[in-house]
Amino acid sequence: MAHLNLLAFSIGGFMFFIGLEYLVSRRTGKNYFQFAESIANLNIGIAERLLDIFVTGLFYFFFDFIYRNFALWHFKPTWYTWFLLFLATDFVWYWYHRLAHEVNILWAAHVVHHQSEDFNYTVSARITVFQAAFRSLFWAVLPLMGFSPAMITSLLLVHGLYPFFIHTQTIGKLGILEYFMVTPSHHRVHHSSNEKYLDKNYGDVLIIWDKMFGTFTKEEDDEKCVYGLTTPLKSHSFLWQQFHFMLELWTAFKRATNWKGRWKVLFGKPDDIDPNIRPQLELIWLRQRGPQEQTKGQRIYVVLQTGLSIVLLFLTTLFEHYIPAGLSVFIVLFIIVSLMNSGAILEQKKWFFYLEYSRMLLLAIAFLFYVPHLYVFMSVLLFVGLLTFYFSRIRAYFYRWLFQ
Ligand SMILES: [Zn+2]
Ligand SMILES: [Zn+2]
Repeated sequence: MAHLNLLAFSIGGFMFFIGLEYLVSRRTGKNYFQFAESIANLNIGIAERLLDIFVTGLFYFFFDFIYRNFALWHFKPTWYTWFLLFLATDFVWYWYHRLAHEVNILWAAHVVHHQSEDFNYTVSARITVFQAAFRSLFWAVLPLMGFSPAMITSLLLVHGLYPFFIHTQTIGKLGILEYFMVTPSHHRVHHSSNEKYLDKNYGDVLIIWDKMFGTFTKEEDDEKCVYGLTTPLKSHSFLWQQFHFMLELWTAFKRATNWKGRWKVLFGKPDDIDPNIRPQLELIWLRQRGPQEQTKGQRIYVVLQTGLSIVLLFLTTLFEHYIPAGLSVFIVLFIIVSLMNSGAILEQKKWFFYLEYSRMLLLAIAFLFYVPHLYVFMSVLLFVGLLTFYFSRIRAYFYRWLFQ
């Protein structure tokens, strides 16, 4: 049988549930989805899933290395070691997640998950590859304890699916489950910036750790959740969302006058970072912000582009073992440029056209590389020639259509 990565089909499942949630929220007259927010969430998720195809292999080797050389025990897979592994994974997750909120360098990766002011299934996709890497570092204690990499990766697969289902407003409280499981209601609290709900409910599958370590709060009927960061980002720029806090840290680090101060910047709490830094950086990096409402043309363009990225992600995952390394570099670049492109259109940035142009060139180069034929060479040359010759005319046409 062909060696396909069937995980690709989870992308379909994921899109199905998002669609279902969208229909339910429309039926009940609730507005759980904002256009730009949903696209931004999906785009961040596409990048993470894409880069993760290459990162997971690395971590398997890392876990394997620790297991072979340093494991304290060697657990055989029995029902109780599986159960033990599940508890250990959930416990490690609790501490990873809590520290991700309390320590700046970890927050720099996790903050992205909390930027959305919506709360729906698309938010569960809002994770960066940096977060995935930090999290896996925490999980390195599992092979050290004596769980084999094969057991760990299987369990993390199931463990990774669960949090998807708790990112929704369409499910109310779940009776007896509320006592020991992390439910949508608990996770709504976690994503809220209300004073009362801040820094609560870090659990992934079990809520018992929060109850044990004093970080549990339940969702109250008279305190409606307000989602997002305490100071909202108000930007859908693909790169800004991922790197704004790293830049803030870097600025604070440079401004610190002694090593104690620098240490505090890296390992202190996010609240201690000077709140004036972000607006100063926004002035430098996010100049000339257009209106936040998109035209119809822009929306169609962004939806098509996101759809194309999802299809490419699906195919890249499915045929992971057949794609030569060079080609996968092209695919990654192509998708990342597309994601930046979508962000730029959502933000109505006119420089998006130059990105679009480089994406076309990228495509042309990939063709030359992988279909080395005289006719292909001639057509690519013609294509690039026309694109360059009519550059300003094409640009004018694009601007008219997209920006009116
Ligand atoms: Zn969190
Ligand atoms: Zn979440």
